[in-house]
Amino acid sequence: MIKISKGVYKYDPSKAYKRELEDFTVAQKEAILKRDGYKCVICGRGKKDGVELHIDHIKPKDFGGEATIENGQTLCAQHNFIKKNLKQTETGKKMFIRLYELAKSEKNEELIKFCADVLETYEKHDINGHIVWEK
Ligand SMILES: [Zn+2]
Repeated sequence: MIKISKGVYKYDPSKAYKRELEDFTVAQKEAILKRDGYKCVICGRGKKDGVELHIDHIKPKDFGGEATIENGQTLCAQHNFIKKNLKQTETGKKMFIRLYELAKSEKNEELIKFCADVLETYEKHDINGHIVWEK
């Protein structure tokens, strides 16, 4: 419930269902897998290579990323783990460059800014400086 004014409350379903919106449904997962050809978008490995596939939020949930097909990508267990736990790695930087390019092509200003912030952190601390980020 949202308090509008003294004694006046409004029910906001968008808030009530926010938690659920953050997780992909079975149907969304299937659609994302199908779109990505049942392969990890980073290394191209799939079930036939014996890897487990996960559906990842391109824009992380912590940054307000929602469970939409557009915000989903197929990652193998390894790359999913790297993205979640080892942000300051070569793969991490490459992944954020890829995401930045995607955001630019979609003209998603919010996501561009998010990626730029992350990539600027890499540059500021000269982490994996050999990987060139073309702004
Ligand atoms: Zn992979």
